[in-house]
Amino acid sequence: MDFDHLYKTLADQPKYRVKQAKEAIFKQLVSDWSQSTTLPKELKEQLNQNCSLEIKGQIFSAQKSKTTKALLTLSDGLKIETVLMGHKDGRQTVCVSSQVGCAMACKFCATGKLGLSRNLTYNEIIEQVLFFDRYLKEQNSRVSNIVFMGMGEPFANYDAVLKAIKYFNDSEAFNIGARHISISTSGIIPGIEKLTAEKIQVNLAISLHAANNKLRSELMRINDRFPLEKLLKAVDKYIQKTGRKVMFEYLMIKGVNDSLKHAEELSRLMAKPLHMVNLIPYNPTGVYLPSSQHTIDQFKNYLRKRQVEVSQRYTFGQEIDAACGQLANKAKKVAK
Ligand code: SAH
Ligand code: SF4
Repeated sequence: MDFDHLYKTLADQPKYRVKQAKEAIFKQLVSDWSQSTTLPKELKEQLNQNCSLEIKGQIFSAQKSKTTKALLTLSDGLKIETVLMGHKDGRQTVCVSSQVGCAMACKFCATGKLGLSRNLTYNEIIEQVLFFDRYLKEQNSRVSNIVFMGMGEPFANYDAVLKAIKYFNDSEAFNIGARHISISTSGIIPGIEKLTAEKIQVNLAISLHAANNKLRSELMRINDRFPLEKLLKAVDKYIQKTGRKVMFEYLMIKGVNDSLKHAEELSRLMAKPLHMVNLIPYNPTGVYLPSSQHTIDQFKNYLRKRQVEVSQRYTFGQEIDAACGQLANKAKKVAK
C-alpha cells in the first residue's frame, strides 16, 4: 500500500473521491478495492492495479495472554513483526515496529542483535495497524492504542514515524487520540527535541535501564553519544514545554541493575515532578536472566518509599516470542 501513489492516482478525480477512498480503507477496512461501496467500478479496477490494498501477514496467537503476533512481508521481501495485545478492559494495543532490525545494538535486546536492514516507510508503519484493524473487524473491535515499542528505534526514523502518527490521529483515518499513542526511545536527544516542538502531543517513554553512565553505556551503546545528564536535560525541557508525564522504562535484569543501591541511584534521578518509572520484567533473549518477582517488589517498594511513582509492566506474549525485546523475525533467521 502506498498513499502517495493513491493520491496521485486520484489527482484528476473530483475531490470527494479521496474521502471515499479513505472511508473504504479505514472505516470499511476493505482489502480489495472492489469491496468499496461508493467508488465507481472503473476507478476500482484502476486502483486495484495501481494501489493494491493487500497486506501480507502470518498470524501467531497466544490465548493465555491474549496476544497476537503478525509477521508481515514487505514489498521487498523483508519481514517485520508487530504485536496486538488485548486488555481486559477492552483496549486493543498494537506494538508497532519503526525499522527492520535496529542499529542501536542494546545488549539485552533480540532486535538489537539483527543490526539494521532499513527504515520503514510511513506506509509500512500504517499497514501494521491496518492489518490488525482488519483482523479485529470480525470481533467487532478496533485498535485503540499504539505504542512504538516493536522493532527499531523510532527517533532514528523520525519523519516516517511522525507522518504515520498523523494518520493514526486523523479523524478520517484511524481516529486514535494522541494520548493513546506512545513513542519509546533509547534516548536519541535530537528526536526528543523535535518532538518537544511538535504540535501533536503523544506520550514519551525513555528506555533508561540504568541510572549511572558506566552501567548504561555497558547495556546501551547509545549512552556514549547521549549520556544521562544530557538526556535528562532534554527530558526536562520536554516536560517544561508540554507539561506531560514521561515514563522511564527500567528493565529488571538479575544481578545487573536490580539491587537496592541501583534503586537508590534511580530514585535520585527521578525525584522530579512528572517523572514516572515503569519496571519491565526482563524477557530472556539468551544473554541475561530476569530478576525474581521478589527482587522486583523490593525495588518497587524502595522507589515508592522515596516518593517515586512506579508501576510494573504486564508481560504479553512471551510464549510466542512476542514480548518486548523479543522481536527478531525467527522465520528469517531459520531461512538463513
Ligand atoms: N527502540 C526503542 C523502542 C523499541 S524497544 C527503545 O529501545 O525504547 C521497546 C522496549 O523494549 C524498550 O524499553 C526496550 O528497552 C525494551 N526491551 C528490549 N529488550 C527487552 C527484553 N529482552 N525484555 C524486556 N524488554 C526489552
Ligand atoms: Fe533497538 Fe530499542 Fe532494541 Fe535498543 S532496545 S536495540 S534501541 S529496539
